[in-house]
Amino acid sequence: MENILSLKCLVCGKQYRPDEVYYVCPDHGDDGVLDVQYDYNFIGRQISRKSLLHANDLTIWRYKPMLPVHPDAKVPPLSVGWTPLYPAHRLASKLGLKTVWVKDDGLQPTASFKDRASAVAVVKAMEEGARIITTASTGNAAAALSGICASVGQTNVIFVPQSAPQAKIAQLLVFGSRVILVKGTYDDAFELCLQASKEYGWYNRNTGYNPYMCEGKKTAAYEICEQLDWDAPDRIFVSVGDGCIIGGLHKGLKDLMALGWIDKPPINARTLADSISAGLPRDRIKALTAVKETNGAYISISDDDILRAIPELARGTGVFAEAAGAAAYAGLVTAVDQGLVSGDEKIVVLNTGNGLKDVSGAMQALDLVRTKPFRVRPDLAELRQVAAGWGNE
Ligand SMILES: *Cc1c(COP(=O)(O)O)cnc(C)c1O
Ligand SMILES: [Zn+2]
Repeated sequence: MENILSLKCLVCGKQYRPDEVYYVCPDHGDDGVLDVQYDYNFIGRQISRKSLLHANDLTIWRYKPMLPVHPDAKVPPLSVGWTPLYPAHRLASKLGLKTVWVKDDGLQPTASFKDRASAVAVVKAMEEGARIITTASTGNAAAALSGICASVGQTNVIFVPQSAPQAKIAQLLVFGSRVILVKGTYDDAFELCLQASKEYGWYNRNTGYNPYMCEGKKTAAYEICEQLDWDAPDRIFVSVGDGCIIGGLHKGLKDLMALGWIDKPPINARTLADSISAGLPRDRIKALTAVKETNGAYISISDDDILRAIPELARGTGVFAEAAGAAAYAGLVTAVDQGLVSGDEKIVVLNTGNGLKDVSGAMQALDLVRTKPFRVRPDLAELRQVAAGWGNE
């Protein structure tokens, strides 16, 4: 791949050729996360803001020359990426802000942001001629890998904690993955998956281990900037588990700076940590760098505030997020409360997962905000009694 210069260890800075090392720096074992280094002069000759104006590929592959895949690599047929960016005027005015957008990655093919990374993983695995791909996941990365593998007929083995929401487990089984429910946490599933991939030589998609996952995730930053006519937002709010999404967004923005496509320095990615998934965030180096280099911040949100954000975001925008997605909006609300954002900043809230992924979480949220349906017999008189309580609405 002529667009790639090297894979650089984030611990020691040593650089490797992509055909030399597949996952982590040999000198630093599982901690030696690698970062893909690109030849931006080369990329700039393959693609430009102007050429994108005429690109009719409305998927992440519209940015193929900026991705770590062969120019003629066959890509999976599912339509990953180019999710909508909605202006959220009512939420903005409620928060006293001028401009808020919500990018809805709940609309990806398997209904979460993870499709961006898994699509790249499947292409890399096919390049390697891998017989089997594996991943550990709290649920969404698994569902994403599972669905994209199904689209190309690729065998895969998935490790998830047995506590993963039913909808996500159903996705895995429907798509025909070999599903290992691990009696333990996500961290336990991760370790077991790592051991299995070493034992059997399976291609490993794990976040914070496979260097290409951030590269898939960075496409969201490209899309946000392109959808805003290359006028980058001031802040992006996103929830953080392993830190691969925030690391990816930062990488995407740095790419765009290096190409001269956006002229502001990478934005302040105000972000938040929550209970999302990971005891030991696997992409912590990239995640911490992202926040440090952009003067961003981590904001902790209580589980109840995250849950309350589900109906609030949904009622303000029509976007139904799962808890881990709504956490980004909860972060914005807290940041406004704490005076961390100013009213004229342009803000993007990234919803990373669809609310239908975890209906029991949504029902819990509705309990918290005391929303209940009305129960009536099929009788107009009874309905009138209910409706009388609504005033003149
Ligand atoms: C995985 C996930 C996250 C966190 O992403 P990381 O890269 O692990 O930080 C956030 N939201 C949803 C819905 C996810 O599935
Ligand atoms: Zn190293």
